Amino acid sequence: MKNIINVTRSSMPNFEEYTEEIKDLWDSHWLTNMGKKHKKFAKGLRDYLDVPMVTLLANGHLALECTLAAFDLQGEVITTPFTFASTTHAIVRNGLEPVFCDINEDDYNIDVKKIESLINEKTCAIVPVHLYGNTCDLEAIDNIARKYDLKVIYDAAHAFAVKINGIGIGNFGDASAFSFHATKVFNTIEGGAVTYNNDELKKTLYFLKNFGITGPETVEFVGGNAKMNEFQAAMGICNLRHIDAEIARRQSVVKRYRENLEGVKGIKLVQPQPAVKSNYAYFPIVLYGKSNLRNDVFDELEKNYIIPRKYFYPLTTDYECYADRFNSNETPVAKNIAESVITLPLYADLSLDEVDRICRIIINSI
Ligand SMILES: *Cc1c(COP(=O)(O)O)cnc(C)c1O
Repeated sequence: MKNIINVTRSSMPNFEEYTEEIKDLWDSHWLTNMGKKHKKFAKGLRDYLDVPMVTLLANGHLALECTLAAFDLQGEVITTPFTFASTTHAIVRNGLEPVFCDINEDDYNIDVKKIESLINEKTCAIVPVHLYGNTCDLEAIDNIARKYDLKVIYDAAHAFAVKINGIGIGNFGDASAFSFHATKVFNTIEGGAVTYNNDELKKTLYFLKNFGITGPETVEFVGGNAKMNEFQAAMGICNLRHIDAEIARRQSVVKRYRENLEGVKGIKLVQPQPAVKSNYAYFPIVLYGKSNLRNDVFDELEKNYIIPRKYFYPLTTDYECYADRFNSNETPVAKNIAESVITLPLYADLSLDEVDRICRIIINSI
């Protein structure tokens, strides 16, 4: 059988390291509900992300959905359609109306020049995404939010470990939601976290993730169940020990991709952000100049057992579940990029020889 190269490959600690970490769960029989592993991981994470407060959750989507719920918002939320399903769904599932802002041509993040024209008296929040781990224009978003008194909740699912001018990315806006899904730079199998600096939010998130239970005989909120369990937390404790080394290996993969593809006609790369310490989460390329080039390159890679992804195609506004509700023609840049982007395989173990081979196939099919 041919070796398949997928877009990503989950990072795992050594088997022995993980079993050592979970051993005492067989003594305590305490498997979930904010036990010892949960506390240890939360502390390690707070230090690593360099944030004042963190809440752990079952996954990244619930981190986002619960955070939006915690602010008890009503009305319209400005966001981007060029993202994973979760961002838009979290807004809609909270009974809020997403209003889609186009993206910019440089890093495909929300175009801050186009936000203000979408604001009206119903607007309550902005949900930008640090797409591919590239930071949004934090200052511009902050200025707009202050001017119009809006909440800012960052979807930081791609931005684990990212820093800007030495400051952890989880320190911006009213809150940031991270994903620790198996496919992300850092994983707890499934998992997520919210970072913020707000005592009230800490309490509300706790209640929302644990059925609204506020005391042994009191239930004050209509909460759900979004708790991270002890096995997830143990995975997080182990993976956190190796994250810097993992990112360094990702960095050399990205460097190799750039050496191969920079300046190739028909391919546009996202340029590195000068003040940002990257996590090298994704390597998107935009293909242009020939009709259907993206799909042709994609198919050629697939024929060679290399499975990239069209992140993010289709736009969330084009999903079947949102048919007739949103209009993707209102975000023409996003529409165009969604039709020309491929996200190439990228993970710590990907060999540089494989990177060279992937690039040869791409260049030959342009
Ligand atoms: C992965 C992801 C999420 C959701 O995280 P899960 O942990 O998979 O629930 C949210 N937003 C974006 C942009 C993502 O890529």
